[in-house]
Amino acid sequence: MEASLSSGRDGTAAVSLDESIGRLSRADALQSQEISLSLQANVRQRLEMVRRALAAIESGTYGACVGCKNPIPEARLEALPETPLCVECSA
Ligand SMILES: [Zn+2]
Repeated sequence: MEASLSSGRDGTAAVSLDESIGRLSRADALQSQEISLSLQANVRQRLEMVRRALAAIESGTYGACVGCKNPIPEARLEALPETPLCVECSA
């Protein structure tokens, strides 16, 4: 009786340890999936901005803010060539 109780306790401890490891790795997997999904979303969003910038270059409107229609400063276009907005409008 005593032996089975203590072995039962050992078994419980081993199971709960495994469960917490399993939960951790599941959380890790979910987190890295979320990170890669948000990275993919960022890349897609940036690609879309680049496409729009290229279309703006073709139509001659590139470099003008789509928000306020003012010219976007060159320094900003050098840092973020695909941005459709000036600093004020993107804030
Ligand atoms: Zn603007």
